[in-house]
Amino acid sequence: MQTDVVIVGAGPAGLCLANALSGAGLSIVLVEQQSVDALREPAFDGREIAMTQKSVAFLKTLGVWERIDAHAKSQLADARVFNGSSTFALKIGHALSGHAELGWLVSNHLIRRAAFDALEPLRAAGADIRIMASERVIDVDTDACGARVRLESGATIAAQLVVAADSRFSATRRMMGIAADMHDFGKSMLVCCMTHDKPHDHAAWEWFGHGQTLALLPMNPDPESGAHRSSVVVTLEARDIDRLSQLDADAFDREIERRFERRLGAMSLRTTRHVYPLVSVYPKRFVAKRFATVGDAAVGMHPVTAHGFNFGLAGIEMLSRSIRDARAAGFDIAGDALLARYEQTHRQDTRPLYLITRFITEVYTHDSLPARIARDAMLRIGETLTPFKRAVAMSLAGR
Ligand SMILES: Cc1cc2nc3c(=O)[nH]c(=O)nc-3n(C[C@H](O)[C@H](O)[C@H](O)COP(=O)(O)OP(=O)(O)OC[C@H]3O[C@@H](n4cnc5c(N)ncnc54)[C@H](O)[C@@H]3O)c2cc1C
Repeated sequence: MQTDVVIVGAGPAGLCLANALSGAGLSIVLVEQQSVDALREPAFDGREIAMTQKSVAFLKTLGVWERIDAHAKSQLADARVFNGSSTFALKIGHALSGHAELGWLVSNHLIRRAAFDALEPLRAAGADIRIMASERVIDVDTDACGARVRLESGATIAAQLVVAADSRFSATRRMMGIAADMHDFGKSMLVCCMTHDKPHDHAAWEWFGHGQTLALLPMNPDPESGAHRSSVVVTLEARDIDRLSQLDADAFDREIERRFERRLGAMSLRTTRHVYPLVSVYPKRFVAKRFATVGDAAVGMHPVTAHGFNFGLAGIEMLSRSIRDARAAGFDIAGDALLARYEQTHRQDTRPLYLITRFITEVYTHDSLPARIARDAMLRIGETLTPFKRAVAMSLAGR
């Protein structure tokens, strides 16, 4: 089989890249190990994704945003950062970003579903996008003349360009011999959706407690009961997370109320619980000969600064624009200069926050007394520095 572009992985990044490349006269093959049913109806995975205004604008141009039900999109009005048992918070208000809200929150499985659905009308209108589901890529090789992708079924696809969108542990990236820095934080994150008595005022919380990190992501009210609802995120050592994930629902509710010091009143589990080990990944290179990485395969962020998918979309927007321009001008869509520009720009855009995020997670989760005092001082000083707060608000809004 022959095509212009092979995208490995039909997660949100792979699907959005196929969409962004459509309409430029390119043939695209998306290879995904999951079944087509799983792509059409992705299962809830607990992740509530905070999206910047910039990402939302891009999803609108792809026709993805309007495919997500209005009630499933929750406004992120403000962000609050707490330390220890103090009720003092560093507050980042939306007004500092110049928008009516900092960004939006949407469940990951709904983004996946909308991104998949958005391909249907493009294909109906003649876009040459083929989805090979239930297929796994087992080998890739590239040279100056072209690329070849081998599938587990025995099929081979020849292409001009291969793009890896196959997660932060990208096997395709490894097949291309690209090394990556991986940082294991030695902790896991439990995510689930809960209702609670007290309102969240559409503010996201990041709470660096003693021996735990908590986050609260505001969602629209529970569609059945109308109760206040949030995505709850608990970060602990792996064995504590395992114990928490196995508690029965009542015991879990009581423990989460206690961990949140009943600041939200009574809380009740509404969904399945999902656990993610915390490992961030930054490859040595984003590109190779006729090969590029996007999404988590390019930058696998720690979720605390809520930028993984936002970075993924920024990279996809940039790479797809360069490929489309090259095709329109009759140039090679996988030229060395094109890929080098993508590498350089995406690295500049992502590396600083990747390193800052590692610094924050290390300093802000250290439990010694001096670290707690320093954290408290940093939050109190930060609260008085409007330019600092504006910079954080701009970053959350994606500007
Ligand atoms: C708890 C949590 C909270 C998060 N919160 C935020 C947030 O608030 N804001 C934000 O911007 N980001 C957030 N993120 C990050 C965000 O979820 C990811 O950036 C995004 O989902 C990555 O999408 P992807 O398509 O790159 O990778 P994935 O979703 O991992 O998809 C990869 C796909 O590739 C397929 N695949 C893998 N190997 C092969 C193979 N060999 N052959 C064929 N197919 C293959 C897989 O089956 C999968 O479908 C969060 C992440 C977590 C874990």
